[in-house]
Amino acid sequence: MSRIAEAILRDGTKLPYVVTDNPPSGTMKHTYFSPDKSYVVQFFNDADMGRNMYTRDRISAIIGKYNPTVPEEKGGAKGNTKKLAEYFSGLFCWPVEIVVAPEFGIVCPAYPQNYFFDENSANVSGLNLKGKDKKSRWFTSSVRKYLNNAEFGNFKSMLKISILLARAVRRMHSAGLAHSDLSGNNVLIDPKTGGCVVIDIDSLVVPGIYPPEVAGTKGYIAPEVVDSAKYPYGDKRRCQPCIETDLHSMAVLIYEYLFKRHPLEGKMRFPQFEAEEEDNLLMGKYALFIENPDDTRNRPDDLIIKVSDFGEYVEKLCLQAFVDGLHDPKKRPTAMDWERGLIKTWEMLYPCENRECGAEWFILYDEKNPVCPYCHSRIKSRQIVKFLFKKEINGRKGQWVQYGETVVYDKMPLYAWHVYSDIFDDEKADRDEIAYIVKNNDKWFLVNKKANGMRSEDGRIIPIGESVLLKNGDFFRISENNNGSLIEVSIRQG
Ligand SMILES: [Zn+2]
Repeated sequence: MSRIAEAILRDGTKLPYVVTDNPPSGTMKHTYFSPDKSYVVQFFNDADMGRNMYTRDRISAIIGKYNPTVPEEKGGAKGNTKKLAEYFSGLFCWPVEIVVAPEFGIVCPAYPQNYFFDENSANVSGLNLKGKDKKSRWFTSSVRKYLNNAEFGNFKSMLKISILLARAVRRMHSAGLAHSDLSGNNVLIDPKTGGCVVIDIDSLVVPGIYPPEVAGTKGYIAPEVVDSAKYPYGDKRRCQPCIETDLHSMAVLIYEYLFKRHPLEGKMRFPQFEAEEEDNLLMGKYALFIENPDDTRNRPDDLIIKVSDFGEYVEKLCLQAFVDGLHDPKKRPTAMDWERGLIKTWEMLYPCENRECGAEWFILYDEKNPVCPYCHSRIKSRQIVKFLFKKEINGRKGQWVQYGETVVYDKMPLYAWHVYSDIFDDEKADRDEIAYIVKNNDKWFLVNKKANGMRSEDGRIIPIGESVLLKNGDFFRISENNNGSLIEVSIRQG
């Protein structure tokens, strides 16, 4: 039986919510929906936690001065504009209000509809997933066999999700906040659209406030935390969740999104220990990356796709996270390192020409061997086209230095970060298409959609709506604005 109750907020406002007998419940909280399902009211399973002064202080700070989903002018994070607040509202399910009665709790926006499964999501009869939220673990663990193929998206959407997660975590970390429990349960993903939203924000570690007692989620807890969990709370040998432990959890999630397997679950065993102790050793003191290049004890026999298959940036980040930094938290790559490296990887995406290929996209990092690692198809096009982006060195007119590059494919859009040397593909960038590529009869063209003063190799202006033929070795300005990139065209026979 359900009935309507009222949550009282700090300013006395009353918010209705629907009380049900078995509300959805996580390890920390249980959740009730508003009558129109646009927001949720959450209470702590342990009511003492809600009475705790530190919890209240922490949540007030999270909702107010640390909130990236509200503009500064409305009480959100310092320097946050309306545009940035809107952007980050899509990446976080951030609490918006504190409930003071009938007991201490929080109000959060409901997740957008695309983060809920529908009646067609399961591929086995009798299993109805409708209304369940799309926790990451549905897509990365063995339960994915119960999902309909249409739920999985493709390699490109999983790479996009990885970039968005790194960006969300980078935003939290830049404010000094640590999530403390990033896991396959606390990040929702929608591979169909390439969307990602970080949830359970109320356990954030806030600078200067006593941290929450978070147990973490098995498989995502940093090895030093697993290994020191034997010490009681308050013991200084016990490692607390912090930014560095988040960096381990985040790296595990990204590895799972890209490779559909856990980076530390291999074939190594310690049968001399009880199962729980063995688990703790495998995720803690003796944790070993399954792709460790020097120690292959944990390597599965069926490792088909490897870290090196996605180019130098992914390989370097994974080795830094799971070899150098696995037991040495200071060596872990930061969220910004991940975001930048994954974006450089994104610029090497290429559509697989095999229509049967489930991945649909791959990373074309080796021009001499342009082969999809999933289906082993080699691209039929004999030409591999790249744009090398150059910017003018400060104070040295006419001297240009390369700052980036992208692999070009038919119908590829070009955005502000391709056209202007001082724009980075992040939350601040304008996401309108400025130009695009067309391949016609083995010839490649760049079509100007809205670039101001695009010029061809011979200095001719290319008006909006017109195109320029691309030839190997061409140099041209894509925009006459001061920050407009100089593009060098590289066409190689693959
Ligand atoms: Zn393929």
